[in-house]
Amino acid sequence: MDFEFTEQEKMYRDSLRDFLKKEYAPIVDKRDAQGPLTRAEAIDILKKFHQLGIGLDQESARGFVGSPMLFAIFAEEVGRVWPSLLTLFGMGILPAIYVPVASDEVKSRLIPRLEAAEFVGCFAETEPEAGCDTSKLKTTARPVGDHYVVNGSKTWISNATIADTALVGVTNTETGAQTFLLMEKEISPWETNELHKIGWKASPTGEMFFSDCKVPKENELSVLMGNALKLGPRMKEVLPLSDGFLKLMTTLEPFTAMMTLPRAGMCMAACGIAQASFEAALNYARERKQFGKPIGKHQLIQEMLYDMAVSIETARLLGYRAADAIVRGHPDARRLSAMAKNYGGEMAIKVTYKAMQIHGGMGLATEMPLERYFRDARMMTVPDGTSEMMKLVTGYTLLGKGFGAYA
Ligand SMILES: Cc1cc2nc3c(=O)[nH]c(=O)nc-3n(C[C@H](O)[C@H](O)[C@H](O)COP(=O)(O)OP(=O)(O)OC[C@H]3O[C@@H](n4cnc5c(N)ncnc54)[C@H](O)[C@@H]3O)c2cc1C
Repeated sequence: MDFEFTEQEKMYRDSLRDFLKKEYAPIVDKRDAQGPLTRAEAIDILKKFHQLGIGLDQESARGFVGSPMLFAIFAEEVGRVWPSLLTLFGMGILPAIYVPVASDEVKSRLIPRLEAAEFVGCFAETEPEAGCDTSKLKTTARPVGDHYVVNGSKTWISNATIADTALVGVTNTETGAQTFLLMEKEISPWETNELHKIGWKASPTGEMFFSDCKVPKENELSVLMGNALKLGPRMKEVLPLSDGFLKLMTTLEPFTAMMTLPRAGMCMAACGIAQASFEAALNYARERKQFGKPIGKHQLIQEMLYDMAVSIETARLLGYRAADAIVRGHPDARRLSAMAKNYGGEMAIKVTYKAMQIHGGMGLATEMPLERYFRDARMMTVPDGTSEMMKLVTGYTLLGKGFGAYA
């Protein structure tokens, strides 16, 4: 068992870390507090990452979601500096993946935008009445000739207010089956409304409203997947996904497989937030003096540092273990990513709480980044599967068929 990154992984981590430190660390506290990124700001950020080779187009997505280990490193490093940026990539990639297997018309519009890093995407499944239970989506797609007519609404959708493209969960009114549609705002316009939240403040979150939106039938997920399968061995060249991930897409339910990577990524982002707060606490424990000595010499402070260090290490091992299972295309990826998502999110809340406690009154000051770490950590236990659902997914994968506690 090798716990070392490869040379390529180290170079990736180091160049990303340098970039984030120079580009965003100096502005994050001020800018994040100002609220959701505008579309222009989001595109500026996407373009800067693109110059590093990280993006949503076929080529640059390979060095990001195309390698689960690089994706895990990406999530941890971005989480450490500015977690609000993660949704631009983590959610944007979900519609982007399918563009290379879409119709020629869609490709001709979207590929140039992807290549220019001017593509903002979102993944829209959650509805006002369909949160953890998405088995009965009320957003409908009515087949009419060569297109669907979509009606309904979505809520809590990352990037909703700035996205040009969306992968939208719908129920087919004729068959009752649920599926996803690749939708472009320019072709099938929708309305949005901003939602406000305590953390990830610069990440736009919103509601989406669809009223008689026409979407070509060829944009339906099973058609897109069919186009991908028709490519045979060339599928690997066209879809920016690793062999292991493609294997999971055929051995698990496609949606179940699809969620493994973001869940492992959420764990790693939680590690990044926790690590940033831990480093701040370590420094403060060395410098701040009370009772004639640095507070780091008091045993109860060392106990808190111990608890923080051991839980960050545990979450990190779990997150990388989940990423490794995805690399191998092992079905355990489902259980490991659910365990990692839950453990990592809950861990980040406890660690950032302790980091604030070690800072005493300063930990509660709004001019310190500690409160942002705490607010951002608090966000980690709901999106991409709540902590409770992650426990139930774990229970089901441990106990097997017939033990689904949430069906
Ligand atoms: C910042 C943010 C970004 C998001 N981004 C996206 C996005 O990009 N796309 C998208 O589609 N969605 C997104 N979501 C939605 C997110 O996936 C849902 O909020 C989540 O699935 C929970 O749904 P809910 O909020 O309706 O809670 P509910 O489903 O109403 O759950 C409420 C509580 O009940 C618990 N619960 C529910 N069922 C059970 C059960 N069977 N057993 C035990 N406990 C249970 C939950 O764990 C939770 O604690 C985002 C949410 C947030 C907050």
